[in-house]
Order: sequence, then C-alpha cells, then structure tokens
Amino acid sequence: MTTVAAYAVPAAKAPLERTTIERREVGEFDVLIDIKFAGICHSDIHQASEGWGEAIFPMVPGHEIAGIVSEVGSGVTKFKVGDRVGVGCMVDSCRECENCKAGEEQYCLKGMVGTYNALDKNGEPTYGGYSEKIVVDESFTVRIPDGLSLDVAAPLLCAGITTYSPLRHWNAGPGKKVAVIGLGGLGHMAVKLARAMGAEVTVLSQSLRKKDDGLKLGADHYYATSDPKTFEELQGSLDLIISTVSAPLDFGAFLSLLKTGGALVNVGAPEEPISLNLFSVIGGRKTLAGSMIGGIRETQEMLDFCAEHGIGSEIELISASEINDAYERVLNSDVRYRFVIDTATI
Ligand SMILES: [Zn+2]
Ligand SMILES: [Zn+2]
Repeated sequence: MTTVAAYAVPAAKAPLERTTIERREVGEFDVLIDIKFAGICHSDIHQASEGWGEAIFPMVPGHEIAGIVSEVGSGVTKFKVGDRVGVGCMVDSCRECENCKAGEEQYCLKGMVGTYNALDKNGEPTYGGYSEKIVVDESFTVRIPDGLSLDVAAPLLCAGITTYSPLRHWNAGPGKKVAVIGLGGLGHMAVKLARAMGAEVTVLSQSLRKKDDGLKLGADHYYATSDPKTFEELQGSLDLIISTVSAPLDFGAFLSLLKTGGALVNVGAPEEPISLNLFSVIGGRKTLAGSMIGGIRETQEMLDFCAEHGIGSEIELISASEINDAYERVLNSDVRYRFVIDTATI
C-alpha cells in the first residue's frame, strides 16, 4: 500500500478537507499514475451530497484525471513509465458480458466499477482524482495524445466522452442540424465536438447571457429558450438535440423542434421523473433517449479526435484549497466552463 494525500468529503454534504488515503500495490496489469490535474464534474457534487442516493464516505471525488505513468506492473503492455494518460468515470467492469465484449464497459450488465464512490472487485472502496496518485488497471487507462495539454484534457475524460458518444451514435456530421441544451461543462464540449464533426450547431440556453461565448466556441446559432418565439422559429428543424441540463424540461416543446425521425438525447438527468404526452414522439417517429459516458475504446477515439482538431476544455485552474468555493460556484452555474484542480497543490 502507498499512502497519498487527497481531498475527501468526510460525510454527506460536509466540506472537503485534506487527508491521506491508501492506494493498492501496483498489480501485474496496473499502472501507477502521478495525477497532475483533476476536473470537477457536477456529478462529484451530486454524489458528495448524496443527491443520487446513499454514498460511501470518506469520499475522494474526481473522475476527470490526467497524469503521468510512474510505475507499471510486470504484465502491462499498453503503457510505460513517462506516458501521458487519463482515467475517466470507471476503473473496472466484468469484462465478460456482451456489452463489455463489445467495448461498451459503461453499460456492463453486472455494473461497471466507478472511479470513486464504488467498491472494487475486492470490496474495497474506490477513491478518485482529487489526490496525488492513483493505481488503475491498464485496460481502464487511456492515452492522452501529445497535442493535448493535460490540464485541458482532464475534463475530456467525462464531459468530453459524455457528449462525444451520443454525437457519434446519432451521426452528427455534415448536413446535420444539432442543438445543444445548456452551455455548461458538458454543453460547451458538445458544441466544440459537434462543430468539429461538421454539423450545424445551435445552442438552446435559458437566456442569451453566454451568447458571445457560444458563438466563439463554434455554435452557428444561439437561442434563448425563455423566448417563446424560439420554439416557433425552430419547429421541426433539428436532426439531433443533446440535453446537458439536469433541470426539468418541457420535453414536449423540445421534441417539437425535431425533424421527423429526429432524436432528443439526455446526458443530464433531472432528479424527478418526467411526464410526457407520447404523441410528441409518435407524431414524427421521434426518439427520446439517454446516453452515459462511453467505452474505453471510444474514449481513446475521442481523445485522438480532440488532439487532431485542437479541442480541449475551457477551464479555470484552481488550487486544492479552492475546491469548496468551486463547488459553490458550480452550483451557481458560475464557471466557464470547467474547474480543474492543479493536484500539485494537494
Ligand atoms: Zn462526470
Ligand atoms: Zn460486463
């Protein structure tokens, strides 16, 4: 075991504080990663406050991890010491079910093992990226291409892949009109990625407050959803809508913006169940769908795509002592567009 410094939530809703945790010995197929940067995802805050149900404490959040390999196990073939690597939302899965075999470990039928707030195969709690080092199986470690700085790459491991996967699955590309609901951590990545894939991109935001940013990030159009004219103007015009918000939406109204056969895909999830008149999907053979992160192979593809297109996250780099303030600011939607912790300050 190796003792490493970390920032942990000692109990539900309690502020984070500096502590130490034990990392397992580097096993045959493990890599030891010196973490350089860790992104703050909204789901860190949901879990630290038990907003998504009972959680494991103390909790070290963080599933947007970028760092450097500092040791490898005897059986490791993918990585060597000095490699630039990332770890996202999962660190293991059953590896045997049809989804794992298809490279969609995030949908493992036995349940993937989360990077934190989960129990690993030995029943030990997993601890995430707000720490100095992490030990991860090479099969759940991805390579960060040289063209990407580690700080702006960190958020790609959750926000990037969460939006990349549905854009690919629903064929965003040239000739397709894609809209993104919400311009936050996920939304700003969806805009950049959809643009790089060649789609015509529209942002649907509550107000026009971030319009300049949205256009700079690559959006072709920007509409306020608080303005009823938006829904008249865009009626039946979109191929794909990615919703990145967790606030309850008028799904019927948004579905009416789709062309026949279009899809509205949720990557953010409201905590309450929704009520929907099914005629809004029946008329026009529409799809209301969801999507969760992406598999390891697709996460690597996303990082390579981002390097090729010069895409990183827009970040505010903070020191570890600022994490609690950053949580407050995320809750107030006061971040452009992702906080990233410089883990040298832990
Ligand atoms: Zn996340
Ligand atoms: Zn599986």
